[in-house]
Amino acid sequence: MLQSSLRIAPAAVAAALLAACALATSAAAQNQEASPTVTTSALTGNLHLLQGRGGNVVASVGEDGVLIIDDDYEEMVPAYEAALTDLVGADANPRFVINTHWHLDHVGGNLFWADRGAVVVAHTNVRERMSTRQEMKIFDSVVEPSPAGALPVITYGDSLALHFNGDDIEVQHHASAHTDGDSAVYFTNENVVHMGDLFFKDGFPFVDLGSGGSVAGYVAAADAVLARVDDSTVIVPGHGSLADKADLQRYRDMLATTSAAVQARLAAGESVDSIVEAGLGEEWESWGAGFINEAKWIGFIANSP
Ligand SMILES: [Zn+2]
Repeated sequence: MLQSSLRIAPAAVAAALLAACALATSAAAQNQEASPTVTTSALTGNLHLLQGRGGNVVASVGEDGVLIIDDDYEEMVPAYEAALTDLVGADANPRFVINTHWHLDHVGGNLFWADRGAVVVAHTNVRERMSTRQEMKIFDSVVEPSPAGALPVITYGDSLALHFNGDDIEVQHHASAHTDGDSAVYFTNENVVHMGDLFFKDGFPFVDLGSGGSVAGYVAAADAVLARVDDSTVIVPGHGSLADKADLQRYRDMLATTSAAVQARLAAGESVDSIVEAGLGEEWESWGAGFINEAKWIGFIANSP
């Protein structure tokens, strides 16, 4: 119901899909027009969905000010500044930025907003990975440490709560899924959860094995979120269009079924190449049409701890 009431420009969705994760960066940027824009959609209550090139951003706007979950790529900052100003008027600077994980399509605005007074909040491992050089072998690339001013200044272990704009915001860490520093952010009164890249709607996920991710952790995270949400919950994936519990359940079942199938074939002595060659079957074909194709997904399963 909420989805149909939203106005999300197809271009924004395409951009979000193109930029499906960190370091799809340069290809996505080259394919985009010179002045990036952000599309804003009302979610529920005082929550808004902002979509640019990178990860989905959720903004809480109310009497306490502005709080945002994730802040897209660095080059998108002017477009977000304009979009937030449209939403709230002149003083659009967020008081808080919560990062769902360390990838650059989710934390790129940190430095700018921190300079404007925002307090950046994230899991301890987000700060750790942003502070140090990261190798992303799957993209054959390296991410240099972020400037000190971009780092989260409040970090947490398992969870954290913020009480802001009349809502109780619960930030829950999930160990070893997309990375080792992923959090889901629940707006408990509004019944909205931002899952970051813990959830790739209708697509195989990017398991950042070099950042401590794992396939088993992905399933566990999906199970944990499923246990907390209901049929009315608005679920915000890391990229692309909004989702609901049924979408997340379908995704969780895909993760569990395909990973069990691959593991069984590996245990029976089949090689990764042979599994890729034979494929997972028609039922799962559409899941490989996005950022992560079937061969990559099979590789993640085979190499996951
Ligand atoms: Zn990511």
